[in-house]
Amino acid sequence: MTAQIIDGKAIAATLRAKVAEQTAALPYRPGLAVVLVGDNPASATYVRSKDRAAHACGIAVRTISLPADTTEAWLLAEIGGLNADPAVDGILVQLPLPAQIDAQTVVEAVDPAKDVDGFHPVNVGLLAAGRPNLVPCTPLGIMMLLQAAGTVLSGARALVLGRSAIVGRPTAALLLAANATVTVAHSRTTDLPAECRRADILVAAIGQPRMVRGDWIAPGATVIDVGINRLADGSLVGDVAYDEALERSGAITPVPGGVGPMTIACLLENTLRAAIRRRGGASDGGKRCAT
Ligand code: NDP
Repeated sequence: MTAQIIDGKAIAATLRAKVAEQTAALPYRPGLAVVLVGDNPASATYVRSKDRAAHACGIAVRTISLPADTTEAWLLAEIGGLNADPAVDGILVQLPLPAQIDAQTVVEAVDPAKDVDGFHPVNVGLLAAGRPNLVPCTPLGIMMLLQAAGTVLSGARALVLGRSAIVGRPTAALLLAANATVTVAHSRTTDLPAECRRADILVAAIGQPRMVRGDWIAPGATVIDVGINRLADGSLVGDVAYDEALERSGAITPVPGGVGPMTIACLLENTLRAAIRRRGGASDGGKRCAT
């Protein structure tokens, strides 16, 4: 069996085009504020990519760059200003933050209605209660990839490998909301290969290069590889042994070019949704672009 390759780059491009089309039809420009503290080069690169992608979709982006010695009180005051600013629909604070700032305090300071990362406890709670509002971008992207691949979710056995607050847990909650039978595995799970082999849908988000082997995958399963791991030779690989998995799975995301491009596209989608909920103006009442 050779798997269908789920082309995240193409699916993300389609989503961005839909966001741009819907944005153009609004009587205002949705606003996204991106806050960057310090000079972490990886964070600066992510922020530039988000900035470019948002501009291209007609979203007004404001990047606020603060020095590495910014105090927590200063950052909280900046966020308070953005919460109160009617032109700002979405606020994203790029993580990680310098050691003197408590990230959770900052996450909780963002107005839940502008929390386009979906990390605020109000949005986490709504998702856990089965009433998702603003959902973290990577899990939202995973769901859109599954939808684009035509994977049947209702009644499917799904294994989410990894239980982080950013990827594993919200992905499990979304799969449950879509009526999959969900198992969450982690570093204390006994017999991981056996858990994986039972899954019709396998989402790997552990940050362990190529740990999931081909013979862990049920024939025909859909595999979503979230992992981004840089090897010593500079190449990027996922958490799944891709070449082996191609022979076993029914559909699979590559790394790079799978989940990664969806994360930024979903940030734009969340910004558009947040804007429509706050200000209205969508002819479809603000439905998601991908549904
Ligand atoms: P975290 O480090 O926060 O969480 C990793 C999870 O994997 C934990 O739940 C951990 O278990 C589990 N785990 C780690 N090692 C093993 C193991 N050997 N066996 C079983 N479980 C294990 O990572 P994230 O969730 O933030 O990210 C996961 C991966 O996804 C990373 O490679 C990251 O780079 C990538 N990523 C990609 C994104 C994208 O846009 N494509 C976005 C975000 C992340 P325990 O809880 O027991 O410690």
